[in-house]
Amino acid sequence: MMHHIAPRCTITLHNAPFMSSNLYIPKTCQHCGNLFTARTTVTKYCGDSCAKKAYKARKRKEKVDAALQETKANQEAQDSITVSADSLSNKDFLSITDASKLIGVSRWTIQRMIKRGQLKAVPFGRKHIVARHQIENLFN
Ligand SMILES: [Zn+2]
Repeated sequence: MMHHIAPRCTITLHNAPFMSSNLYIPKTCQHCGNLFTARTTVTKYCGDSCAKKAYKARKRKEKVDAALQETKANQEAQDSITVSADSLSNKDFLSITDASKLIGVSRWTIQRMIKRGQLKAVPFGRKHIVARHQIENLFN
């Protein structure tokens, strides 16, 4: 059985005609809004001064945007902390990690308190579970 192979099209398209200096494209300057004729399709501004001003404005905007993003990210981080604290306050039984977060001390402090008998914890497999009221009793 014969396979017929179609001849491949070898013509490559260039952007060359668009780069031609004979081309005049009516455009609106993206900075000042003036009408001008562009020599290339990529020209956005009527002149160097507008291009520079637009560049500076863009850089300034990028900075402002970055600052806003950072503020937003910080806000979101704050929110997630608040949420996790809220979810702890709804629990009746806490892991040592949870208990330490709730009081704001290290896990080691909690474990030391358990060893000393200051805090009652129930062994739960390998872990210890602290009843929430036990922690509240500490403050009574
Ligand atoms: Zn301009």
